[in-house]
Amino acid sequence: MTNNTSLPAINNTDDYDPNSLSVDQARSIIHRYLNPIRRIEEIAVYDSLERITAEDLIAPLSVPSSDYSAMDGYAFHSGELRNHDVTLRVVGSVFAGHPFQDKVPPGCAVRIMTGAVIPESLDTVVMQELVVREEEIIRFSSHGITAGQNIRRRGEDIREGAIAIPRGTRITPAHMGLMASLGMVNLRVYEPLKVAFFSTGDELVGVGQPLQNGQLYDSNRYSLKGLLTSLRVEARDFGVVRDDPQALKQVFHEASLWADVIISSGGVSVGDADFIKNLMAQLGQVVFWKLAMKPGRPLAYGKIKNSHFFGLPGNPVAVMVTFYQFVQHALASLAGQEIRESVPKVRYPLAGQIKKIPGRMEFQRGTVFQNSAGQWQVKTTGNQSSGVLSSMTEANCFIVLPMDSGSVNDGEWVEVELFQGIL
Ligand code: AMP
Ligand code: MG
Repeated sequence: MTNNTSLPAINNTDDYDPNSLSVDQARSIIHRYLNPIRRIEEIAVYDSLERITAEDLIAPLSVPSSDYSAMDGYAFHSGELRNHDVTLRVVGSVFAGHPFQDKVPPGCAVRIMTGAVIPESLDTVVMQELVVREEEIIRFSSHGITAGQNIRRRGEDIREGAIAIPRGTRITPAHMGLMASLGMVNLRVYEPLKVAFFSTGDELVGVGQPLQNGQLYDSNRYSLKGLLTSLRVEARDFGVVRDDPQALKQVFHEASLWADVIISSGGVSVGDADFIKNLMAQLGQVVFWKLAMKPGRPLAYGKIKNSHFFGLPGNPVAVMVTFYQFVQHALASLAGQEIRESVPKVRYPLAGQIKKIPGRMEFQRGTVFQNSAGQWQVKTTGNQSSGVLSSMTEANCFIVLPMDSGSVNDGEWVEVELFQGIL
């Protein structure tokens, strides 16, 4: 979406009802407005974790760059395998990092270590365990030994000129190692997204100050700071903003001068108060959704000047759920990541019961655990109120209950989104 374009789809879509928009509908509407922000910079491979590649990385060389031995053993030419019993004379040793310089005559072999370059004219390695050696003579049976075995071939990992890492890839530790194996020092990535965030609410107090009656500490900015940091965006904290139109207008104005994305939590998302609606109409284009999800309604989305805006609910759990379900994906897209797979869901049998009425998609906080029989199951973390943040800290997954599902009984299979995999 470019500046000044409206959000026509939101107002014209037949199936659009702001009071019962499904999670999928909201996602797909948001997705239409996400044009990646493509500012490019060059950084060191060493510092590239979680950054997003701005171009296809073409392999400048093959990996491995030669044929290497995959075993400790003896290298020889496969022609020697014509006899059942092979007898060869050892004419030298070759170690990793020290290539063998001489020619190896017919009827001869060299002792070779894992990672050493295969000498010219040799093509097969026999494991040392299969060989009987007496002084300079080795013997082994050719039975079960195939030509070319125990060799890591030149280019078997990556071929020179191939796309080693496509554009739009989020760099993992494995990518860092791969780039180093190609001899790369630097790479071109997209600049981090600039994300402004703040909390709203007269009842909120920053940590380090005493609490008066009716006040509570602002936790949302801390959860958001953590969420944004783990995505490696450039996050700027705009603090706690009072429930006051002028103060809100001011912070939206300042944030929009800098940010690609603005995220707020609390009252703003409700949009019931006229002052919020008026304010948003003055600043940009924002729609207010009461999503058919739990927790997570309400949610506001739109543009404020050139910045994308997400107005998250105030409840601490709802903030995290809506972040994971809407914002994280949107930030990744805006940051230039090509999302090739959706978040994988896995299924586990439920331990216990969940009460639910059809009509909303629910994201219950759950723990995947191993029961006493050694089987993996999932259970809820107990109190699922959207203000109970400990339900998030105790959880290792969301139990995702589709809109049309009713209550779930003990032993029924449910879909789960794990918070963390191993990569
Ligand atoms: P709101 O959406 O502003 O009506 O807030 C919903 C609930 O979330 C209220 O109980 C708020 O006190 C609480 N809440 C809102 N913002 C925060 C915050 N930043 N930290 C902790 N609780 C909050
Ligand atoms: Mg509030």
